[in-house]
Amino acid sequence: MAEQSNKTSKGYVGRFAPSPTGPLHLGSLVCALASYLHAKQHNGTWLVRIEDIDEPRAQQNLVPGILESLVDHGLEWDAKVVFQSKRHAIYRQYLSQLDKLKRLYACACTRQQIKSRHTYYDGHCRDLSLPLALNSSPRLAIRFLQTHLPLSFVDEHLGQQNILDPMAAEDPVLQRKDGIYAYHLAVVSDDIEQGVSNIVRGYDLINTTPIHLALYKAFNHEPPNYLHIPIAVANNGKFERQKLSKQNLAPAVKKQQAIANMRIALYCLGFDYQQVPKFSTVHQCLAWALEHWSSNMLPKQTELLVSIKNGVYSAPY
Ligand code: GLU
Ligand code: ZN
Repeated sequence: MAEQSNKTSKGYVGRFAPSPTGPLHLGSLVCALASYLHAKQHNGTWLVRIEDIDEPRAQQNLVPGILESLVDHGLEWDAKVVFQSKRHAIYRQYLSQLDKLKRLYACACTRQQIKSRHTYYDGHCRDLSLPLALNSSPRLAIRFLQTHLPLSFVDEHLGQQNILDPMAAEDPVLQRKDGIYAYHLAVVSDDIEQGVSNIVRGYDLINTTPIHLALYKAFNHEPPNYLHIPIAVANNGKFERQKLSKQNLAPAVKKQQAIANMRIALYCLGFDYQQVPKFSTVHQCLAWALEHWSSNMLPKQTELLVSIKNGVYSAPY
């Protein structure tokens, strides 16, 4: 059984927060399953939040399929699903809190100008006092003023992490010039609003954690525990050891393959594939995983290879 994290079980709230830019693929199933198992083993609540804040990119028509796929794999959430696209008022309020704290400034730089100076944003507009229009348009992009950024943190699984990516230290955009609230603002505001205590997510997001921690600090809110899990990568004719994503057309996890998908997902979470029994229902498989999995079993690698043959996932051996 899993070890208790340093949060008490009583207040455990976990979540799975997919962006509907593609169907639920094996990589997202692994994240959903890990966050579910960790929450349930701590007698916690497990939430699902649809991260459709980037409305031009998000595909609303994919949402029912994503939710159905979770249910097909036995993963049922404990409260109403929330949609970021319906929470603009919350993000506006969090942004104005930062404005009151003098932690925002407007930035007029184009992507090209930023690139021509450095690969990351160098704080060029920090002291220019450009007009900050929180609620009106046209507007400039709004950036968060970083101070004393902690670039290291302790991950529950990986231990001390020192983030070297200079992008993690730049002043991030919190509202784009087209008015869209950025992922960093939405995710932290939502996790605070929803009382999320433990974040279990893919290693591909580890570089964003210092940004999120800086926002928690600015909001004077205790940060959650972070646990970053290995990401599933595929390696066949079509994919050359690439993270599964909609960009490389990673296939959706199919209902008819649900038990097989769960066994592969459990392999990604640290089980010896051959040791996972061949159950006849996903619910049996999930109950077994709840009893036998522990976050201590997570592989230390940051990537795990799976195979895809004719649109169906299989373990690499
Ligand atoms: N919506 C993000 C994604 O799908 C996940 C955000 C998070 O877990 O913090 O990559
Ligand atoms: Zn600028």
